[in-house]
Amino acid sequence: MKRNVITDTLNRPLRDLRISVIDRCNFRCSYCMPKEIFGDDYPFMPENELLSFDEILRLAEQFTKLGAEKIRITGGEPLMRKDLPLLIEQLSELEGIHDIGLTTNGVYLIKQAKALKEAGLHRVNVSLDAIEEKVFQTMNGRNVKPKAVFKGIDAALSAGLQVKVNMVVKKGVNDGQIRPLAEYCKAKGITLRFIEYMDVGQTNGWNFSDVVTKKEIYEKLTDIAPLIPVKKAYFGEVASRYRYKDSDVEVGFISSVSDAFCSSCTRARISADGKLYTCLFAESGHDLRAFLRNGASTEELEHYLTSIWTNRSDRYSEERTEETVKKRKKIEMSYIGG
Ligand code: SAM
Ligand code: SF4
Ligand code: SF4
Repeated sequence: MKRNVITDTLNRPLRDLRISVIDRCNFRCSYCMPKEIFGDDYPFMPENELLSFDEILRLAEQFTKLGAEKIRITGGEPLMRKDLPLLIEQLSELEGIHDIGLTTNGVYLIKQAKALKEAGLHRVNVSLDAIEEKVFQTMNGRNVKPKAVFKGIDAALSAGLQVKVNMVVKKGVNDGQIRPLAEYCKAKGITLRFIEYMDVGQTNGWNFSDVVTKKEIYEKLTDIAPLIPVKKAYFGEVASRYRYKDSDVEVGFISSVSDAFCSSCTRARISADGKLYTCLFAESGHDLRAFLRNGASTEELEHYLTSIWTNRSDRYSEERTEETVKKRKKIEMSYIGG
């Protein structure tokens, strides 16, 4: 396959494609889909507004020709999209894609891990914000017990998937769970990645003072064992990685608030209804679904995607101030997929 890697105005290549396959979710995490706003009458997308698997494939193929090597499937909760293993199977046949991952809250892995692995999925990032039942239930907004996620993690490991755990830390809510979760993951040999709570969307009431920074988390972890820095594996790796001195197990930090990494951001994101976003904090997206459904040719699609990426100049996290947090009208995380 002929690959023509395109770069944006800040010389960042297009490398990663994140595809949201659904905007619905079985959780109501307070930092993402607060239950007071995402209630029973919330207008989620009807099925015909979601990109079809054929449309996703057509876009993914074009993105690989422009440089994308990795695909991550996300949501909402991606395991709620019907027949997801079929999509994974088709994506895994694309020439040039060497890594397919999935981000999930883990509850449905118990049923689907095996089929996903057989379809060609390489790894899963399971979001888990607490070990303690009450704290986890407060975080997920739906009274789901952590046991449901532990079982999902075990199913993924047994199926032979690589597993990482992601924890979003919210000050005063689940920061007491940093050490217990780190100990759980260390005992299982799983990498735990701490995600700084971000000001995505308009609904979570984010405030700088709710953020627990990488530095604060790091200090809590050194009570378990000293941490040794691990070199970045590739350009654009978002997590800064460390290894416990007494084991091979790693921990990572995704410090988009206290230490932004826009200068190496190589990610394009497609929402479940087919809008392309060149930044998590973009105010609007480019309607690829309309473009496809209006009969665009392969050349037109290539031209359109190229013009969007080569004009990209986003670097929101590097520019974040009290002012931008208030002013910018941002899309919801459950819509774009994180
Ligand atoms: N439902 C799946 C899950 O939770 O893993 C996939 C979609 S979720 C939007 C993707 C990731 O975004 C999760 O790891 C979640 O914790 C993270 N996330 C959501 N809202 C966030 C926020 N305000 N700040 C930081 N991370 C957030
Ligand atoms: Fe659902 Fe994931 Fe958002 Fe939680 S973070 S509400 S699991 S989409
Ligand atoms: Fe990438 Fe935008 Fe996040 Fe910066 S703020 S790292 S450009 S998604």
